[in-house]
Amino acid sequence: MTPTRKLATVAVAALMAGGCMASIESARTEDEAAEAYVRLVLGVGTHDADYVDAYYGPPEWRTEVESAAPSLLDLNKRAAALEVDLRRLPAIEAGATDAELRTLRRQYLARQLQALRARVAMLRDTRLTFDQESRELYDAVAPRHTDDEFQGVLDTLGARLPGEGAINERYAAFRQAFVIPTERLDAVFQAAIAACRDRTAAHVALPEGERFTVEYVTGKSWSGYNWYQGQFRSLIQVNTDLPIYIDRAIDLACHEGYPGHHVYNVLLEQALVRDRGWREFTVYPLFSPQSLIAEGTANFGIEVAFSREDRLQFERDVLFPLAGLDPARVEEYYEVLALTERLSYAGNEAARRYLDGQIDRAAAEAWLVAHAMSTPAQAAQRVRFFDQYRSYVINYNLGKDMVRQYIEGQGGTEADRERRWQAFTELLSSPRLPSGLQ
Ligand SMILES: [Zn+2]
Repeated sequence: MTPTRKLATVAVAALMAGGCMASIESARTEDEAAEAYVRLVLGVGTHDADYVDAYYGPPEWRTEVESAAPSLLDLNKRAAALEVDLRRLPAIEAGATDAELRTLRRQYLARQLQALRARVAMLRDTRLTFDQESRELYDAVAPRHTDDEFQGVLDTLGARLPGEGAINERYAAFRQAFVIPTERLDAVFQAAIAACRDRTAAHVALPEGERFTVEYVTGKSWSGYNWYQGQFRSLIQVNTDLPIYIDRAIDLACHEGYPGHHVYNVLLEQALVRDRGWREFTVYPLFSPQSLIAEGTANFGIEVAFSREDRLQFERDVLFPLAGLDPARVEEYYEVLALTERLSYAGNEAARRYLDGQIDRAAAEAWLVAHAMSTPAQAAQRVRFFDQYRSYVINYNLGKDMVRQYIEGQGGTEADRERRWQAFTELLSSPRLPSGLQ
């Protein structure tokens, strides 16, 4: 996916305690725990239409869960019991060749369950602050930024943009020359997808038969969405409600496709589900730590696939001409965009203040227009995204920064692109948690 109250004083720890009765059918192995986890995720999905982002495990599990119709209270109790079962699993044999991966598997299951219980508590009307919620659901908390920090970037941007008047109006006017005309949209996207796929396939062993289809949709709070179908296939939807600027072609093709969400899901299916039989990866609960890894790798994947020079050259030679835009303006456009990238955390501030009840919808939209260079229409779409997905917003920019730091810490720097691909592919194929990236 790519983007678009009241507080309680109850301590998060107290919320997450709760019925701890051992269930009748305790999980005695990792595989049994994995199946119980999948059924719990599907159970929460019967109460929350956005929760199960993908499921390609046995269809009868879903049918069984739907007909059992578990209550939220029951799901919380069973999740608590499964947490106990996980702690009681026999120790992993020292020296086992897959000991590290199996340890990650157990930690992953336990942490995903913690997030599941937090989501269940939210569905039962528990209100968390923005930071409490992101810690519980995504295993991370976004840093805070002051208005002064954003003002420094805005001043630099103001000096760079032509014309007189408000910075956001000059920015909107500047970007006007870089909209992809509707009738050229599909041709531009297809070219971007092909380029992203070529660069990915040169470094990652993609399984036979992997592919995705693209659909153009309207009336959504997000700008793009990957719906993974299993069997190495995705459906990618692109929202055409608002004008689409030329930079979105590669961003979306990388983020939703190669080497982003599509490749992430394909590699999890290949490496964990098919090669190891780990069924917990046939389900993807959206409001869980897995989303920080998914969005962080999808956003950082843009820089894995394209060096700065490669990107500018491809835009100049292929995408700008295909879109009917002036290729002589490529450098200038991306210079300005690089400045606005530094404003991405302004979006988190707007979401935090809005969801914590400090500002209302109109003030959140106004903040995004003034500090994040959104047009009024983009700001309205973004606040609808806050309503629907809440603290999920941190997964994009904080997720990207955490993934970058992790990959560079593994030697995958800009200077060593081969190692960068290798560390990135390893991350996409393993059950690592956000807190494990530090
Ligand atoms: Zn995404």
